[in-house]
Amino acid sequence: MCAAPDAASADLVVLNTCTVTSSADADARHAIRRIHRENPNAKVLVTGCFAQRAPEELAALEGVDWVVGNSHKTQIARIVLGAPRTEEFHGQIVIGDIQHSREFLAAPVIDAYGDRTRPNLKVQDGCSNKCSFCIIPSVRGLSRSAPLASIVEQVQGLAERYREVVLSGINLGRWGRDLPGELRFPHLLRAILRDTGIQRIRISSVEPMDWSAELLELMAGEPRIAQHIHIPLQSGSDAVLKRMFRKYRTRHYASRLDLAHGLMPDAGIGADVMTGFPGENDVEFNETVRFIENRPFTYLHVFTYSERPGTHAAQSTEQVPISLRRERTAILRELSDRKNADFCRRMVGRTLSAVTLGNESALTGNFLRVQLSKPRAVNEIVDIEIGAAGPGQLKERELLQIIAI
Ligand code: SF4
Repeated sequence: MCAAPDAASADLVVLNTCTVTSSADADARHAIRRIHRENPNAKVLVTGCFAQRAPEELAALEGVDWVVGNSHKTQIARIVLGAPRTEEFHGQIVIGDIQHSREFLAAPVIDAYGDRTRPNLKVQDGCSNKCSFCIIPSVRGLSRSAPLASIVEQVQGLAERYREVVLSGINLGRWGRDLPGELRFPHLLRAILRDTGIQRIRISSVEPMDWSAELLELMAGEPRIAQHIHIPLQSGSDAVLKRMFRKYRTRHYASRLDLAHGLMPDAGIGADVMTGFPGENDVEFNETVRFIENRPFTYLHVFTYSERPGTHAAQSTEQVPISLRRERTAILRELSDRKNADFCRRMVGRTLSAVTLGNESALTGNFLRVQLSKPRAVNEIVDIEIGAAGPGQLKERELLQIIAI
């Protein structure tokens, strides 16, 4: 068996789905229809979070041969190779109760896949929180951590070919809490720094209260950790945060942000923000706008709220009209663009460390894309002098050519 170059020429297509928003569901349905239309002879196996949430809905789609929940992802090879059917594998749908899963299960990462220079290493799965809008805990189960030794070994392997590794998880800051020995996320970072030769570690996203002083001080004092802090905010209104069942209020969030910015004034600081959560009125939305305007964010990921079946928020009778949700999303995206442009302008004249990507571009430690002024080898860490700020990215300073006559 070998990997086909694309779905159109494959005998078997395994589609890993997301279900975090209704548009993620729509994308998955669209992908299944396209695969079946372009390659009707291919067997199609659908797995991931949508499969875990609504297996029957997916099994009813034309062209789907198997639906395998997150609970049985590691059994996919056995399922497609026709392991004798047992009580467990009783037909097209293979699914179990993910809430019983206590083990961290993920294939080892040995490559950077689509992005040739920055492999993404998942070190934590699941979430034990219960935010009222979120489907993730019901499809991924409780928080589980990859063992420290296996992470260090994988990072060491990746360090032989890559300069930057991104550590990721569903609730990354909870890494270690389920492992013996009172381990916390900073322990993992220290072990990676001590026992591997990786040149840059990037931390993908950590919930506000897990950005501890210990973690931020470690980042601030360690040049091998990218100065990039992603802190999900969701709302700048305490009333909305309360209805979301978030575990912090704006003052807690602001204190972590202030500490981060004080320690690392040039760090890239991003946040996830949700618009149109049930009951969000103009006053609450404007609180969010003001909160963001007054703080040193350098980019936002803005999500329009969408009802996820089975969640507490989906049952609210105060759903915000879709058109208003979208209007608010547009306002925050415009604010994000402005803040990002200000940050880019502030970087002009600086020399920033960046990892080179394809297409003559590079990604700085503080999460800005730079257009290079000359071709450079891909997958190197280089110092780049910033000459100008364009929309959404920086430009490397062009070197003046002095021609002797
Ligand atoms: S912390 Fe994140 S993943 Fe966990 S329930 Fe809340 S939004 Fe979902």
